[in-house]
Amino acid sequence: MRDWQPACFRALRETCTIYKGLTPGPDCQLNKRPLMSSKLNVHTLVSQPFAENTYVLWLQGRTDALVVDPGLEPDLILNFLRGEELIPAAILNTHGHADHIAGNHFLKEAYPNAPLIIGAGDVPMLADAELNLSAPFGLPITSPPADRTVREGDIVEAAGFRLEVLEIPGHSPGHVVFIWRDTPCLVLGGDVLFRGSIGRYDFPHGDGPLLMRGIREKLFTLPSDTVLYPGHGPVTTVGHEKRTNPYVGQE
Ligand SMILES: [Zn+2]
Repeated sequence: MRDWQPACFRALRETCTIYKGLTPGPDCQLNKRPLMSSKLNVHTLVSQPFAENTYVLWLQGRTDALVVDPGLEPDLILNFLRGEELIPAAILNTHGHADHIAGNHFLKEAYPNAPLIIGAGDVPMLADAELNLSAPFGLPITSPPADRTVREGDIVEAAGFRLEVLEIPGHSPGHVVFIWRDTPCLVLGGDVLFRGSIGRYDFPHGDGPLLMRGIREKLFTLPSDTVLYPGHGPVTTVGHEKRTNPYVGQE
C-alpha cells in the first residue's frame, strides 16, 4: 500500500522548496559534538521529499520514547523503534502540515496506546488535506484524531520527560514547540526557527510578523546554549540564531 509513495515523492522532490533559504545537510559542526547530557538519546530520521526531521527521544536505560513529527517515510521510524526495542509513550506533532503528520496513522496503528498530541489551533489540519497542504501537492493525507490537544503553558509528561508547551503561531495557526528544561535546555521546534532561516509564512493562515515576534519573545529569551531541534535541517542553538539568523538575528 505504501509503494506508491516513493515514486510520487521523487517526482515532487525537484519542485518542492518549502523552507526558504534553508540548506539542509549534515555539515553543521553543531551536529558533531555532544550537546546534551549523556542520559539523553536523540535520533533523527529524515523523510523525503521535504527533508522533514522526525525525532525519537529517549532516556538512557529506558525503553519508552517520544516520537516527534512522524513524517512521510514512516517505515524508517517503525524500523528504528523496533531495532532499538523502543515503545512510543507519546506521539507529538509540532504542527499540522502534512510532512509532519503523515506518519501519525502508521504510528498509531503500530502503537495504539501512545497518545497523539498536537496544539489545539492545528487540530483542523489533521482531518483536512487542503488545510494540511497535502491536497495541493496531489497526495491527500489525513491523520487519526488527536488524543490530547495542548495550549500555552501545558505540560506533557511521558517517557521520563517533562515538556512545557509554548504556542508560536505564524507558520501555522496552532504551531507549538516543546521545551525540556534540562541542562542545557532543549526545544523541539518544528517549523518556527531553523539554522539560518525561519518557517515560511506565505501559506494560507501564515503571519510573518507574528512568527518573528514569537521567536524573539519565546525562543530568544531562553538560555543561549538552548539546543533547538528543528523540523528541517541541522540542529542549532538559541545563541547561534540570535547572533547570526538573517531573519530574526540581532546583529
Ligand atoms: Zn510546516
